[in-house]
Amino acid sequence: MSDAEDTRLWHPFADMGSVRQAELVIDRGDDVWVWDEDGRRYLDATASLWYANVGHGRREIAAAVSEQMGRLEAYSAFGDLANRASLELAELLADLAPMPARIFLGAGGGDGVDTAAKLARRYWFEQGQPDRTLLVSRTAGYHGTHGYGTALAGIPANRAGFGPQVETVQVPHDSLEATENELARVGPERVAAVFVEPVIGAGGVYPPAPGYVEGIAALCARTGVLLIVDSVICGFGRLGTWYGIERWDVTPAMIVFAKGVTSGYLPLGGVVVSEEVAEPFWRAPGGPVLRHGATYAAHPSCCAAALANIAILGRDGLLERGRDLERPLLDALRPLAGHGAVAEVRGGMGLLAAVALTDEVLERDPGAVAQVALRAREKGVLVRPLGRAIAVSPPLTVAEEHFGLMAEAIEHGLGALAG
Ligand code: PLP
Repeated sequence: MSDAEDTRLWHPFADMGSVRQAELVIDRGDDVWVWDEDGRRYLDATASLWYANVGHGRREIAAAVSEQMGRLEAYSAFGDLANRASLELAELLADLAPMPARIFLGAGGGDGVDTAAKLARRYWFEQGQPDRTLLVSRTAGYHGTHGYGTALAGIPANRAGFGPQVETVQVPHDSLEATENELARVGPERVAAVFVEPVIGAGGVYPPAPGYVEGIAALCARTGVLLIVDSVICGFGRLGTWYGIERWDVTPAMIVFAKGVTSGYLPLGGVVVSEEVAEPFWRAPGGPVLRHGATYAAHPSCCAAALANIAILGRDGLLERGRDLERPLLDALRPLAGHGAVAEVRGGMGLLAAVALTDEVLERDPGAVAQVALRAREKGVLVRPLGRAIAVSPPLTVAEEHFGLMAEAIEHGLGALAG
């Protein structure tokens, strides 16, 4: 902890008034462990920001990136330009997808969300239904902080204070009936797409009720609305499959991915676009052009990191661990539900879980979650403070014995709360 310096770095989602002289500077990482600049070791119980799926310090990813950089660090993919790493990655990601698809590549999750949102609206424009512009998201949903993602925010604080935004509607994350009613109220012929996280992550870790995902897919099919699955957290092993959504028998129109696709070794995200949605744009020369995409789209060095990362996920059998470990993780944390400050422990679907505090505790002390997370650090465990819960989502290489450390550290943190 560097106490004295006044940082020049503006941290995302941070109370800079507090953080400016109290940063935790992470210096290095190895597998599930990271060290700060003072040499203190921490269990990375959150895989950084839900992304270090293969763990830290994988030399082979660094080597693959280095090789790519030595050959061609970057080059535009606008127009007819391409590079081999992005072609290979697109081929692989399409092969792994649960539906016939094309792949649009960008820099991260929020970038992918904005791509999917714009593509949905543009698709309907090409279908002669230009009024289908409305986007639907779920309460507690998180879709990044770009323009559309901000408008789609199901965490109200993430939308507040930014002025007028793209038109969206939010529906209760756990109610099919409310979603159906809302579509009927606004008129499905006005709705372009529904955004669904298979398991809600940043909004508090909410696995869907049995039948929910299938129900939303059926509702979309009935109303013509596009189902956009946001698997930015859920993909690449977090739920035990490539895109998370394979756990349900549904066919999305698009899947947004990021994070685990490179395990964060370099920034990359994108959209798996079903053939159906791609078709108007791919049909024939002279057709509509999607005038969208960023400078670093299909960046070869980032694609090389993704290819090496995906190879590790497959080779080391890590993909399945997201599912195999979901019960042991929940079982290890469940006893915390007995603590007076804890409302519930959520998880059991994929390698992520949350310990939610009670309304009383949060009303009495709005900083309670942050305090628990800070105290957990004293026990050498980095957990993630969400709005009303402490979340964990370790690398897929985590051992079951580490779950005990997480539970102990959170229990220690809970001890800090006035009874
Ligand atoms: N969608 C989901 C479900 C996410 O959890 C996140 C980030 O946590 C995003 C989108 C945004 O991704 P990024 O931060 O890479 O822009």
